[in-house]
Amino acid sequence: MTFSNADVFPMGTTVNSKGVLEIGGCDIVSLAKTHGTPLYVYDENTIRSMARAFVGEFTSRYSKTSVAYASKAFLNLAMAKIATEENLSLDVVSGGEVAVANAAGFPCSKMYFHGNNKTPQELSEAIDLGVGTIVVDGFQELDLLNSIAKSKNAVQGIMLRLSPSVDAHTHAHTTTGILDVKFGFSIETGESSIAIKQAIDSTNLDLQGIHFHLGSPIFELEPYSTAIDTVLEYLKPFFSQGLELKKFSPGGGFAIGYLQQQLPPSVSDYADVITSMLKNKCEDLGIEYPELIIEPGRSIVGRAGVAIYTVGVTKEIPNVRTYVSLDGGMGDNIRPALYDAQYEAVAANKMSGENVNIVTLAGKYCETGDILVKDIDLPKLDAGDIVAIPASGAYCIAMSSNYNMNPRPEIVMVSEGKARVIRKRETYRDLMALDLP
Ligand SMILES: *Cc1c(COP(=O)(O)O)cnc(C)c1O
Repeated sequence: MTFSNADVFPMGTTVNSKGVLEIGGCDIVSLAKTHGTPLYVYDENTIRSMARAFVGEFTSRYSKTSVAYASKAFLNLAMAKIATEENLSLDVVSGGEVAVANAAGFPCSKMYFHGNNKTPQELSEAIDLGVGTIVVDGFQELDLLNSIAKSKNAVQGIMLRLSPSVDAHTHAHTTTGILDVKFGFSIETGESSIAIKQAIDSTNLDLQGIHFHLGSPIFELEPYSTAIDTVLEYLKPFFSQGLELKKFSPGGGFAIGYLQQQLPPSVSDYADVITSMLKNKCEDLGIEYPELIIEPGRSIVGRAGVAIYTVGVTKEIPNVRTYVSLDGGMGDNIRPALYDAQYEAVAANKMSGENVNIVTLAGKYCETGDILVKDIDLPKLDAGDIVAIPASGAYCIAMSSNYNMNPRPEIVMVSEGKARVIRKRETYRDLMALDLP
């Protein structure tokens, strides 16, 4: 049986004959019983299908495409293994991400190392490990990386991150391609022109190409085409000054459906706009087609993950609001507090129940802002009921914390009716494992 907001849940999510939510063939109530809550459930088929959709939709239009999974959305050994098996490249933003992916057997040569303030240690480790491309974000880094590479007698592949002053209309905290941001060399101020010349002349850096990233999640297509047009047009004079565009990346930021009534463009829509603009511009400018690097993070894992909670206390304020508190909250999902993110929710054990109550789903953390879903129509919820919040696969666990000394949730991967733990629930012992009295 399907249900009204199924499009924001993992592919193939159904309701079984007991009226219980079923993901990847697994009954969510029995998963909650076996593993406890809060529990994050990832559907392996959705992750792999999304990875294959990006590879397929882009390479069928533009054969020289590499899909670099932006690992900051969700990374652990199991996810790194899937990225390896799906032949993806990897977008990393810290020495820690490099280390986790490397430990899972992900080839460092297929990593793109981003970040506005990579430390000297991170840059040095990246060169030692053979990270294929370091995406240089500023002048100090350009100097520093060249001198570290020189000291190691290495030549490091780099791309330059430009900031094209294109607004992708995301939340102010997640727009990254406008003038007033900490990321990248601004085209508008002219610093990108100096950076390109300096990169070409750097003795121990090999400038592979140009990168930008506009923000996330981007529900519109036009910011991508505008930015590709703007950046390639801007690069025109540099092609006669030694710039070889072997690689070109318009970043990631592809949206997912958080709300049933706000579904994103399809992967093929994004692929159409990006590849056609890139091809047109290359022909206009008379340059060879570069390798196209796209960097989806959220869109690979976001839909695949569902957060499972148990209902506890209800507080009814007559004529104001009814708060139903769950056993997780801002420690495992900071996005509502940070970005006003909105979510759907269902009562996983009452899927055939009628919606009768407008309630606000609150977390258990000591903050008034610890609200997961505001004013949502649900069946009557009692203590012990199981609530599932979909589209929780990206940037929830990745941004999780131990605030209030709550152990972080267990994570299970489901596939064909089987669930396996990919990260154990933290214990009280883990909370003090690194403390010294
Ligand atoms: C975060 C980030 C991405 C991925 O963004 P998503 O919205 O998860 O697709 C891609 N590229 C860069 C440089 C990023 O910082």
